[in-house]
Amino acid sequence: SSGLYIVATPIGNLRDITLRAIETLRDVAAVACEDTRVTGRLLQHLDIKQRMIRYDDHADERAREGLLALMADQPVALVSDAGTPLVSDPGYRLVRECRERGIPVTSIPGPSAAIVGITLSGLPSDKFLFAGFLPSKEKAREHALAELAVVPSTLVFYETAPRLTDALAAIAKVLPGREVAVARELTKMFEECRSGTPDELIDHYTANPPRGEIVLMVGPAAAEAASMEDAEKLLREQLRELKP
Ligand code: SAM
Repeated sequence: SSGLYIVATPIGNLRDITLRAIETLRDVAAVACEDTRVTGRLLQHLDIKQRMIRYDDHADERAREGLLALMADQPVALVSDAGTPLVSDPGYRLVRECRERGIPVTSIPGPSAAIVGITLSGLPSDKFLFAGFLPSKEKAREHALAELAVVPSTLVFYETAPRLTDALAAIAKVLPGREVAVARELTKMFEECRSGTPDELIDHYTANPPRGEIVLMVGPAAAEAASMEDAEKLLREQLRELKP
C-alpha cells in the first residue's frame, strides 16, 4: 500500500539483503536513491527492474514535493548507497514530512555499519552514542570530541581512510587514556577490527595505510575518571584550552 518504505541495503556483502527488502524493492512503484548508478547495480544484481528517482535531503523543494505526492497514493522505497537510510545518509526530511502529512512510513531493517562495528569492537555495547562523522577541520574536530568527553558510553564515529590517523591523534589529545577500536571493510573479504591505544593504532596505520570504509569507536572514560564531577572538570579544562 501507499507510503514510504525505508529499505536497508548491504554495506559490502550483497548476500546481506533481507527477503523483505527484496520483496519491497520489487513491489514499490519507484525507488528513491542517492545515486542511480549504485542502486542500479544492486537492482540488477537482484534482477529487479524499477523506476529510480534521485533524492537527497538538500534537493530542492519541488523534487521533494514530487516524491511526497507520489508516496501519497503509491508505495515508494528509499535506499541509500549502502546500509540504513537516514544513518549519516539522506531521508530525515522526507520522513519528517511524511509524518506531518500522515503518509505511512515503514522501515525494512538491515545492515548498518555502526551496529556491525559495535558488535565486533569488544568495547562496552550496553550503551553507545553514535556521533556520525567528525568534522574534518582540526579545531572543530577537537571541539566535537571535547563535547563528548562526559558521555559515559562507547562513542561510535564514521570515518574515512585518509582522515583516520588525524582522528586518532585528536582522540589521544582530547580524550586521553581511552581504548579505541577501528573496524574496517565490514562484511567484506578484508574485514578487520583492531583495538588498542590511539598511539598504538596510529603506529599501525602509519606503517599500513588503511583502505576502505571505517567505523571508529572510543571506549568510555575509565571508571575512576567517570564521576560526573571529574568529567565536568575535564570538559571545562578542555573547552578553555580550545578557545582561540
Ligand atoms: N547509512 C550507512 C550505514 O547505515 O552504515 C552509512 C553511510 S555513511 C555516508 C558511510 C560511512 O559508513 C563510511 O564512511 C564508513 O564510515 C561507514 N561504513 C559504511 N560501510 C562500511 C563498511 N563496510 N565497513 C566499515 N565502515 C563502513
